[in-house]
Amino acid sequence: MKTDPDRQSTALHREARIPAGLRALYTLALDLIFPPRCACCGRVDTVLCDHCADELVRGDIILLPPMPPIHSGAACGKYAGSLRSAIHALKYESDYSTAQRLALPLGQRMAAVFAQLAWKIDIVVPVPLHTSRLRERGYNQSMLLGVHVAHQFDLPVVPDAVTRLRSTASQVGRSSAERERALKDAFAAQPHLVDGQILLLIDDVCTTGATLRACAQAALNAGARQVTCLTLASA
Ligand SMILES: [Zn+2]
Repeated sequence: MKTDPDRQSTALHREARIPAGLRALYTLALDLIFPPRCACCGRVDTVLCDHCADELVRGDIILLPPMPPIHSGAACGKYAGSLRSAIHALKYESDYSTAQRLALPLGQRMAAVFAQLAWKIDIVVPVPLHTSRLRERGYNQSMLLGVHVAHQFDLPVVPDAVTRLRSTASQVGRSSAERERALKDAFAAQPHLVDGQILLLIDDVCTTGATLRACAQAALNAGARQVTCLTLASA
């Protein structure tokens, strides 16, 4: 359930005042009043049921159309059905522990697709959120996904390699040209982290590719050798 930031912050403060011993009881009481529901099928009492988790792990390779300056790009499914529901819940309806639970099968799906791509990669770089968005959400969903890929292939995750300098308003409903303009110079990369490296950018959804391309350009400007990208879904 999406709550507005003010109410969310009030709720967090209320929770912070509860002694640690009572917090589990508080969570239990909340679960009784508002039982968790599977993000995909709505089944009660779990944030993700076993059936939907099994389904989310299985993905297909969708090669993304050319998005210069990105060398190669792939997604792990269409932004539809249970994958869409899971991504929406991961981004907009989760606390940190729910997000981690959802990111597990989704990250495994990305790792399975990455294994088939046989790309040579030096570092895994989650597409960054602006610090204000990160504070509001409490986690970067691309980071939660990227760690699964990195862990499985023994690659370093370098979340600070690319940072978001400007908070861009929601890109939903904007044309490709409008997105490009809004994202120009929105990212910067750290030369000492990307110089000579082949990056794997990780993001949840590729819509027009404008965000990924802007990140890639920032990394290349800072000396990266090549940038590829893997997203969970392609819209
Ligand atoms: Zn389910």
